[in-house]
Amino acid sequence: MQTLELTPLLPFASTADPEYVRDVANTKRFLEYWSADPAFRAELPQDPVGVSKAAGLVADPEAIRSLWSLDPNDPSHRQAPSPSVLRYGSFMSEKFAYRTNLRTSADSTHPGYKAWRQRQINRCFGQLGGQKGDSLVHACLAVELCAGCSVGCWFCGISALKLEGVWPYSPENARLWKGVLGALQQTVGPAAGRGFCYWATDPLDNPDYETFCSDYADLLGRFPQTTTAQPIKDPARFRKLHQLSRRRGNEIDRFSVLTLGTLKKLFAEYTAEELLFVELVLQMDGAYNAKAYAGKARSKQERWKKSTGQEPPPDEYTSTIACVSGILLRMPERSFELVSPSRADERWPNGYRIHARRTFGDVDDFCTQLEEVLSALPVRLPLDQPLRLRHDIQPQILDNGFELVSHYYKLTFSDESYAAMRLLGEGLAQGNLSASQLALRAEPISTLEQTMMVLNQLFNSGLLDDEP
Ligand code: SF4
Repeated sequence: MQTLELTPLLPFASTADPEYVRDVANTKRFLEYWSADPAFRAELPQDPVGVSKAAGLVADPEAIRSLWSLDPNDPSHRQAPSPSVLRYGSFMSEKFAYRTNLRTSADSTHPGYKAWRQRQINRCFGQLGGQKGDSLVHACLAVELCAGCSVGCWFCGISALKLEGVWPYSPENARLWKGVLGALQQTVGPAAGRGFCYWATDPLDNPDYETFCSDYADLLGRFPQTTTAQPIKDPARFRKLHQLSRRRGNEIDRFSVLTLGTLKKLFAEYTAEELLFVELVLQMDGAYNAKAYAGKARSKQERWKKSTGQEPPPDEYTSTIACVSGILLRMPERSFELVSPSRADERWPNGYRIHARRTFGDVDDFCTQLEEVLSALPVRLPLDQPLRLRHDIQPQILDNGFELVSHYYKLTFSDESYAAMRLLGEGLAQGNLSASQLALRAEPISTLEQTMMVLNQLFNSGLLDDEP
């Protein structure tokens, strides 16, 4: 039996067999179209070859049937995967590993920030579910280089305002920019290089975006990833940007695609191979993956229902598009916030929490404010503040301990590992006792050190409430 050699593509596409690259790129393109167009999804099973040919797709639909057939009884789901399926699977595994690496390898030298970020990562796994938690990179930095966004998506998950101005790369701004990046590098460490230069903005609205990003790569070691909702506005500019970005350490860029018409134009403009490392975020009505119910999407319930064909989720189950546990820097207004992902709800309608907000005048002021904000983040559990469980967690007291029940999991804590577990559960459920008070309460059964160890584990796991 012949074995199929699978080739890593992310860093080595230029040296890979062109036929292999083409195969993966065409499979990717096929699945993008399938995800985008409900009529195509409906018609495909009747005449796979004819329907995909009519849509201008090159991949052989029969060879990748197991990737698109929604029929659980389709024999393709039980057959050995074709070379195209295996190659595409290998490529996707690489991309998942790349994403996980962005989250796990961001290393901060600031003890308070490092511990806080890890708590946010753990909280998000519990609060948003394993799948969503795994998809968040918890970037350390996001930067706005414009005030507002020209695109104006009705569903904008972070409620971008209208474009009011861009922040040009003037000599004065360039000095401030480089100074601020240097300060971030000094305060946060290498993790500062795990960021991107957009938020409630579209990067391509700023004609100097590439210059800012080149400074970022010079100072922080890696070109930031780009996501734009203007994929066909200036293809020559995007091609140059994408190549520069990949040359300087970034692997994946993204297009946010708002309509099927734009997707078709985009397919006509770029070859499948050109977009191998450009993820398409499909936002058109009827797309297979429902958009997040956050920001403007959340405030336009009827429009969201029409677009997704689903009922809006209650606040306990909403999601987010925010993926930063770190600094959200707004250069045009010289301000920054410390933010972390959250479910979109009444309090945090845009799907992210704001833990602190500051303005600054110059680089020195930025350094001082940043240090103040980050040094307020506890490395260890504070001893004298009331401890509460997260709002989404229901405690259940058991004879020998307690359970923490949330939408996504149930965790059991029993007295096998710590004798005062039931007492601790009762105290945490009460929600007004500090770590010191809880430890003293438990002392007849367990030592202060034992109680502190258990409480610190709960704290580090993101189970205790730290909502600002
Ligand atoms: S989703 Fe992106 S492109 Fe659309 S309005 Fe919001 S920030 Fe702008």
